[in-house]
Amino acid sequence: MKEDAVLKKNEECIIHIEDMGNDGEGIGKYQGYTLFVKNALVGDTVRVRAMKCKKSYGYARLMEIIEPSPYRVEPRCGIASRCGGCTLQHLDYNEQLRRKQKKVADCIERLGGVTEGYTLYPIIGMETPYYYRNKAQFPVRKKDGKLSIGFYAGGSHSVIDTDNCSIQAKVNEDIIRCIRSFLEEENISIYDEETHEGLVRHILTRVGFVTGEIMICLVINGKDLPHKEKLIKSLTDIPGMASISLNINKEKTNVILGDKIKPLWREPYITDYIGEVKFRISPLSFYQVNPVQTRVLYEKALEFAGLKGDETVWDLYCGIGTISLFLAAQAKKVYGVEIIPQAIEDAKENARLNGIENAEFFVGAAEEVLPEKYREEKIYADVIVVDPPRKGCEESLLDTIVRMEPKRVVYVSCDPATLGRDIRYLGSRGYELKKIQAVDQFPHTGHVETVVLLSHKDADVLLV
Ligand code: SAH
Repeated sequence: MKEDAVLKKNEECIIHIEDMGNDGEGIGKYQGYTLFVKNALVGDTVRVRAMKCKKSYGYARLMEIIEPSPYRVEPRCGIASRCGGCTLQHLDYNEQLRRKQKKVADCIERLGGVTEGYTLYPIIGMETPYYYRNKAQFPVRKKDGKLSIGFYAGGSHSVIDTDNCSIQAKVNEDIIRCIRSFLEEENISIYDEETHEGLVRHILTRVGFVTGEIMICLVINGKDLPHKEKLIKSLTDIPGMASISLNINKEKTNVILGDKIKPLWREPYITDYIGEVKFRISPLSFYQVNPVQTRVLYEKALEFAGLKGDETVWDLYCGIGTISLFLAAQAKKVYGVEIIPQAIEDAKENARLNGIENAEFFVGAAEEVLPEKYREEKIYADVIVVDPPRKGCEESLLDTIVRMEPKRVVYVSCDPATLGRDIRYLGSRGYELKKIQAVDQFPHTGHVETVVLLSHKDADVLLV
């Protein structure tokens, strides 16, 4: 017989929120039964209504805040509680940072299995944790004749109509206003996800924070945009406008961008800098979204790499070569490996753009390319940098790293849990954890970026 959960659907109870999950949801217990509550904060006492009850845990809706958490603040953004973007805007920023630091420390200790011998530096947060994103993707929809441009509500595809967002570049407000008037005045048809009819699907914007250059790309379900000259005329009045293009996406898919770019005004890319390195960014290229903190993160990675100029470095999961090119100025040679061919094309182009000749790039899965090159060409590394996606590194890759015996491994991670797991693997095979630095790349969300330094236990011997 199926065992009953402690609570039944629609039953209400009062709980104290003791912790928070990865997506900012509050976690509390009712008679030992764990409940996840959206918009509830650690420290809140709340009345909740059970919505979905599994055997050992359930999801509940926040009905009333009986005693607010001392860390609760008024979100800057009027739509924060509904929007799927920011999940922590109602949590004091210093407390956000404290929790992220704690999460990193817990994962290192619990999953990494290391409790001493390293320095855990205080997390680096942003001085002004607003308007930090350089890339925005606004869905465009029409419901009952009303145009909506904004953001998806949490866990859904319904669009919350808004002209402003507290974490996007501020100039987006002018851009959205301008495009909104154009779409309404010219009565341009809007894409409908259900019928797969209508033209305009998304608006993509990118802003070079150093150069001030702005890129606009309208994603359309068709070949061309009617009355486009009118849109171009009004958008080019915005200071910094540098590129306007269309992206053709006729597929019935949730993927925002199609493969084809059609330039409307000037070239379909902008340029920006991270430190001294210049990047060409097209609508399709991957580029870190928080340029201020990216620079902080890369500088830490560079510092941890401890380069003197004569090293061979492998940068695995290199994307468009951002870290590789950042390191190249201080190394003898940098090799980058990345699975997406287009990103490698960008990496090569970016190397050319900066006159960097000591960087070489390979397309392929890091866990295939590195073992194969090691087996067949006996490649060598003084330093290996890895920056994997959330799932972390495959064991076959870690195993090759161990065999290659680099003096240092610099691990850049966007998920402290898989970082902990991989540190444990490397730790039991000769790599000692030396330094940990968390950097807040995504204020008001639950995500945290960490860079760690692991040194080979015989690094001094290997140096000779
Ligand atoms: N270091 C880059 C990109 C980091 S994001 C930067 O800082 O900008 C992680 C990258 O890993 C993405 O570009 C993704 O395409 C790539 N990737 C994912 N799985 C991979 C794999 N198995 N092998 C190599 N690259 C992979």
